[in-house]
Amino acid sequence: MDHFLYRDGVMHAEDVALTEIAETVGTPVYVYSTATIERHFRVFREALAALDDPLIAYAVKANPNAAVLATLARAGAGADVVSGGELKRALAAGIAPGKIVFSGVGKTADEMALALNAGIGQFNLESEEEAETLSEVAASLGLTARVAFRINPDVDAGTHAKISTGRSENKFGIPHDIARAAYARAAARPGIVVQGVAVHIGSQLTDLAPLERAFTRIGTLIAALRGDGHALATADLGGGLGIPYDPARPLPPSPADYGAMVARITADWGLRLIFEPGRLIVGNAGVLLTRVIRVKPGSASPFVIVDAAMNDLMRPALYDAWHDIRAVVPRGERFDANVVGPVCETGDTFAMERPMDRVAASDLVAFMTAGAYGATMASTYNSRALTPEVLVSGGDWAVVRERQPVEALIAADNLPHWLVEESA
Ligand SMILES: *Cc1c(COP(=O)(O)O)cnc(C)c1O
Repeated sequence: MDHFLYRDGVMHAEDVALTEIAETVGTPVYVYSTATIERHFRVFREALAALDDPLIAYAVKANPNAAVLATLARAGAGADVVSGGELKRALAAGIAPGKIVFSGVGKTADEMALALNAGIGQFNLESEEEAETLSEVAASLGLTARVAFRINPDVDAGTHAKISTGRSENKFGIPHDIARAAYARAAARPGIVVQGVAVHIGSQLTDLAPLERAFTRIGTLIAALRGDGHALATADLGGGLGIPYDPARPLPPSPADYGAMVARITADWGLRLIFEPGRLIVGNAGVLLTRVIRVKPGSASPFVIVDAAMNDLMRPALYDAWHDIRAVVPRGERFDANVVGPVCETGDTFAMERPMDRVAASDLVAFMTAGAYGATMASTYNSRALTPEVLVSGGDWAVVRERQPVEALIAADNLPHWLVEESA
């Protein structure tokens, strides 16, 4: 459930009319709801109430805005980070280092040193080569890294190929059938202490069965590793639970169903469980607010050209993602339309032949469920400035990322000396 509702015919974010934000900040603009972020975090935590002190490490990559992170830090979240930059953001937001998990296949030695010096809770390693480097970096600093191996359980998550991560042909983790040998070799390295296992099979999962298969495999591995003499303390079950994008599709499994499945599968593990939800926490907590530039005729349906584009919201172009598209002030009529941005790419298409609220030039439109993997994936393609972001809380709101002037974009480039001298 989210807090983007119509009041007197105008879509609001909590108690703030989206028309007010659009008039003040301009469009396109991302708008996030504090109450929705907090609600989703609370619902997920309550779904895990049967577990003993689980760590909910919010996947920063879903939405790394400092205000979003600070909201979640205040709610008690940890962080799952995948780069030195995300680690710095999590620390700056006040997330305790002990609640930070560092994931990702390509951590550099510099990033490892940064995380070791910060004293993070766990490194999720994705190869033995990475274990070797981390051990060397830690030993050189006189520190010890607490690690888990991310296990690739060879399970098909049944999601879009580009967000599936747990099949043997994906780049992620170590194959589960070599895990025991990898743990044995890692335990002998001086700079690391093996404390757990980790798994994350993909994103936007709409079925619990692949997760249950993966967790069951992890349970078997935990028993084997204990038999081998490893003292395990944590099991990181990743993120990936799907959220509703299309109201016409069946609802994905609820956090409560997920929590019950986890409690059943992990009942005799005796480990502290870690979770890394991203989309589930922030997906429905954001909309991309955009204005119709003009409507032009198409061969079948008209093209609604909005001032947001694929550079602002990449998911449709990247993953064929479906976003609900609604008028902020509906006229009470519907039509079928193609919704596109101004970028010079056919891929800059948000929807084709979509039944939606009828809109005309200068109407405001909201792309729903844009809080996760939205602003964070934005680029400046076509020399379009990065989209600003607004956070609403009750009747209050604040710009939490300013609109970047195009001049700043241009000024960031340098001319080489030979071109400067020529023009001087
Ligand atoms: C992206 C990612 C997540 C978060 O996935 P969601 O689908 O947003 O919940 C969690 N863990 C890892 C390792 C990831 O790469």
